[in-house]
Amino acid sequence: MKTRTTQSITSGRNALTLLPKIVESLTGRSRPLIFADENTWKAAGSRVADILAGAGIHCLGPYVFPGKPSLHADTERIAEASSAIARAARDGPVLPIAVGSGTLNDIVKRAAFENHTPYICVPTAPSVDGYTSFGAAVTVDGFKTTLPCDAPLAVVADEDVMAGAPARLLAAGYGDLAAKLVSGRDWILAETLGLETIDPGVWELSQGKLLERLAAPDRLAARDPVAVRLIFDGLCDTGLAMQDQGDSRPASGAEHHISHCLEMRGLTVNGADALHGEKVAAGTLLSALMAEFVLGHDAGEARILADRASEQSPEACEREVREVFAGTGIPNAAIDAAVRVSLEKLVTGVARENRLARICSSWDVLRRRAEEKRPRYAELSENFARAGCLSFRELGLTAPLIRWSISAARTIRNRYTILDLARDLGIFEEGINLVISKINNQILKI
Ligand SMILES: [Zn+2]
Repeated sequence: MKTRTTQSITSGRNALTLLPKIVESLTGRSRPLIFADENTWKAAGSRVADILAGAGIHCLGPYVFPGKPSLHADTERIAEASSAIARAARDGPVLPIAVGSGTLNDIVKRAAFENHTPYICVPTAPSVDGYTSFGAAVTVDGFKTTLPCDAPLAVVADEDVMAGAPARLLAAGYGDLAAKLVSGRDWILAETLGLETIDPGVWELSQGKLLERLAAPDRLAARDPVAVRLIFDGLCDTGLAMQDQGDSRPASGAEHHISHCLEMRGLTVNGADALHGEKVAAGTLLSALMAEFVLGHDAGEARILADRASEQSPEACEREVREVFAGTGIPNAAIDAAVRVSLEKLVTGVARENRLARICSSWDVLRRRAEEKRPRYAELSENFARAGCLSFRELGLTAPLIRWSISAARTIRNRYTILDLARDLGIFEEGINLVISKINNQILKI
């Protein structure tokens, strides 16, 4: 278990009124510098400043980014925030407070880190699990990467503020939390095959209350503050699980890899980038469909597939990855990285035989564990619709793009998922075809 940076999480009604106590107890005499954008300043930023001032804590700034066009976590914005902190720090310690959703939090999280100072996060939407995790998702040279930085010292989330967030952000949070249903399954697969271990405490934190927290999609869409807080608490716990684990395994599997690939292709909705949770929701449905196909085989069928599956040479592996990315406009550096990852993941010879033997010998256990407490695609898809998540069509996800994103997703991270199991059994392409046909049927029905 790693040491957590986050020392205090407060969520609930009127949580903002507790900020002065939290600031004083954790940071003593640091001077708060509030960061917001024009929308989140109105939603909560000005209240945060008033509450702190009312308690005799004088705030610096605020530093308010424009509300339109919507904020991007990129190197320019981080440089702006970072120099604002550096300027203020000339006269004494500064405590940045990020009042906003995931993007603003990522900007301030990284800017605070660059200035070697802790920061406090005041989320205005339950939209991502990044509030309590380390690392910031930032666009560098046109591509999203995770830049290293610490998690916040404290998170203070007011459920009424979050319930007033734009509907798409609420639905995106539902998608990012529901993703843990399929990423948890990927983790189970890796553990059952002896590739990774699962710490019971980290598992409980990220998976223990998942189903009950996801049980009220309609109430979330209707902005019921309790339903909103359940999603937020789930996202927060996942971030903490990542801190305890020291990596993103408790939060991310094939569905996030698919989402990263869609991001590389610049998926937009009404001219603006699709939200993280929207892409992840789509990835979650695709991962769920793939799992239903792969795990639908019985032990005898799995054995036949394993016997038939052919070994791939490193040369063929590299050729295949380069073909997947050919013509996409994705920079060579990213393609080279995908080749590197794919070669690291490739198992050949005795290692491959052992892998297949393990898959076959543990097939029944693997199926049982992987399906336990995991809703099927139909139920997930229904819940997403009730939560107000965008459909594949609304996200502009065409069959070729879906096909590409699943193919590419297997190449970008060295982490075992349902996509790798399909590949090991030689049914990856067949699985993608089945996923596409199911999605097409669904789109036709709408
Ligand atoms: Zn996520």
